[in-house]
Amino acid sequence: MNGQRVNDPVIEWLDADTVQVRQPKASHWEAPFLYLLFGRERALLIDTGATADEAVFPLRATVEGLIADWLRRNPVVFTRPYPLVVAHSHAHGDHIAGDPLLRDRPGTTVVGTSPAEVIGFFGFRAWPDESVAFDLGRRVIDVIGGPGHEPSAVVFFDRRTGILFTGDTVLPARLYVRDLAQFRATIDRLIRFRDDPPAPVRELRGAHIEMSTTGFDYPAGTVDQPDEAPLPLRPGILDRVRSALDDLRGEPGERVERKRFVVVLDR
Ligand SMILES: [Zn+2]
Repeated sequence: MNGQRVNDPVIEWLDADTVQVRQPKASHWEAPFLYLLFGRERALLIDTGATADEAVFPLRATVEGLIADWLRRNPVVFTRPYPLVVAHSHAHGDHIAGDPLLRDRPGTTVVGTSPAEVIGFFGFRAWPDESVAFDLGRRVIDVIGGPGHEPSAVVFFDRRTGILFTGDTVLPARLYVRDLAQFRATIDRLIRFRDDPPAPVRELRGAHIEMSTTGFDYPAGTVDQPDEAPLPLRPGILDRVRSALDDLRGEPGERVERKRFVVVLDR
């Protein structure tokens, strides 16, 4: 035993100021990935997981522990309470359910989940065909309009790590296309961003893994995924998603399968 309990989050520091947190499969089969990014002025949490029950997935305790850790290592940051902004890749339940656990946290702003609230908070003026800069303090995050899977979806780009946080839009999983025209426009927008970026785009990290290493997708509801594909995707995946969208004929429920993802027309 390594002391890990089944519903403890799986925590990975991607660098000294960036944490990837996975809600464990044992607590919810969706097992979404969350990200916590630290800047000099504030931190950004992307998504809050699939449950509002701290006993099922200890989101609040995890976030408190990570922030305390980081502040201990960064004594020059002396604002108390250290501000936390909680935003979302999109408004589906498995990405926002934990919001109530953080709403009363001192210094914390939980961004609303409607398109109007997302547009207003980040200051989009030409939604969705735009990206806006959001500064965490010596760390700029670009927020890119990303509807198509869900109307309020955004993609976050971290100039520091070069990671595009793509939520449920591009990930090693089923890409559920709810609005094909908007989804296609979002992929085109991400391709343009990738090809003319404010800093090099190194990889994409989405919010789930549903693919195996051998290229099949685990059915919805699967808890045990012994042969999971890795989460990060190379920037070139965007071109493959674009071409898979072109292969759709427009039938509801239709699937277009690729090695790293499956496009599903979900309408
Ligand atoms: Zn979703």
